[in-house]
Amino acid sequence: MPKENELMEKIVSLCKRRGFIFPSSEIYGGYAAIYDYGPYGVELENAVKQEWWKYMVQFRDDIVGLDSSIFMHRKIWEASGHVSGFADPLTECRSCHVRSRVDHLLEDAGIFADEKMSEEEINKLFFASLDKIKCPTCGKRDFTPVKKFNLLVKSNLGNFTDDWSKDPAYLRGETCQGIYVNYKNVLDSSRVQVPFGIAQIGKAFRNEITARQFVFRTREFEQMEMQYFTHPDKEMEAYEWLKDYRWKFYTDYLGLSEKNLKWHKHENLVFYAKEAYDIEYNFPFGFKELEGIHARGDYDLSQHTKYSGKDLSYMDPRTQEKFMPHIVESSAGVGRTVLAILSEAYTEEDVEGEQRIVMKFPKKLAPVKVAIFPLLKNKPDLVKKAHDLYVALRQQFVCEFDDNGNVGKRYRRQDEIGTPYCITVDFDTLENDTVTVRDRDSMKQDRVAIKELEAWLKVHLNESIK
Ligand code: ATP
Repeated sequence: MPKENELMEKIVSLCKRRGFIFPSSEIYGGYAAIYDYGPYGVELENAVKQEWWKYMVQFRDDIVGLDSSIFMHRKIWEASGHVSGFADPLTECRSCHVRSRVDHLLEDAGIFADEKMSEEEINKLFFASLDKIKCPTCGKRDFTPVKKFNLLVKSNLGNFTDDWSKDPAYLRGETCQGIYVNYKNVLDSSRVQVPFGIAQIGKAFRNEITARQFVFRTREFEQMEMQYFTHPDKEMEAYEWLKDYRWKFYTDYLGLSEKNLKWHKHENLVFYAKEAYDIEYNFPFGFKELEGIHARGDYDLSQHTKYSGKDLSYMDPRTQEKFMPHIVESSAGVGRTVLAILSEAYTEEDVEGEQRIVMKFPKKLAPVKVAIFPLLKNKPDLVKKAHDLYVALRQQFVCEFDDNGNVGKRYRRQDEIGTPYCITVDFDTLENDTVTVRDRDSMKQDRVAIKELEAWLKVHLNESIK
């Protein structure tokens, strides 16, 4: 397998070459930290979101879904602390003018910077540590003073004045605020009772200072979040359950290998948090956060009660006890999950002296499930039979028809997009209505009767990962 940076380059290049992920606005020279998902990328991304939704909502009778809007009342971001405190420390190299996040520079030097540190404190720590830190781009040690930079993205939505930036509408910096402010609506309109959860998938926006590492850190991204509301005494019980349930999502459910996943415990917690862990994934650039799982106490609902003037406490209909629910949350990024899946799937193999690149996606996430080929392009009988089969199968599975080049080339193309099964219609098919089905991973071929094909594919595509 290729080495770290080389691996990242190979993944980025495959994503572009095969239509998974493109840099945004490329024909205009690109647009930093924004990416577009191409034809196979959108299938992969949709599959990730669908599986998350199934696992978090469909399989549970205590969790319901929500799709709240990107724009919300300004006060929500004041109540949440984002307007005053959602800021990253920034410095600029005086030599090459590249900006860096100071907490990351410190972290790379093995020094921990607390999120809550004031601008003054972080300046002190940073300039006292300069013997261990240099600019990651040019290697010099000449930096501007550290400034805290707010990450919320502003817009003029609904504001028709010239100085709108004094009274901006914010694009949401995280999806969970839409859940907190709808928690009462959900309680009053559905049959849930505490404990219960609300799940949501949606876009979030952050003015990230550094744009690096492909879709790992982007300024527009999607989050998959679930907020679980519990009795205060049951918060940590729910937290332990959620940690275990989320770990199993990646290992048992998606099939990522355990050696590429690890827990990271947050040592310096914000004042309201009881406990916070990240699940980290071993990306080509090392172990980094894939999702956060946090026990948040009653902070969110108390803040929104205070700022909105609406009492968000809960009256338990069974015990008549009134309390402010505590929240445990799971917050994962779609882009980071896609990147973890791409990194895990990327495989180079030597096949009879030739290199084969194959994306060994878990079958349930593969962008195309089945490819159908006529053996030869210039035999109308074969082409028609293969095309009829393709039209029938695409009712059930994402399918692709390909009659370009020789079959070997078509296999290689399907391997690079990770298609689990390739079906070839050949001369025997015209005689006995059977086809060859080639397995992506073993490259073995089976002969299957057309009338049994749909059932065969269903069984093989659904088989458990392990
Ligand atoms: P980081 O420390 O890497 O900036 P974070 O701790 O700020 O991440 P959270 O606010 O906990 O992240 O967001 C929850 C999840 O949303 C993260 O685990 C990640 O998967 C995703 N996420 C956050 N910021 C980004 C981003 N800029 N680009 C892509 N995904 C992101």
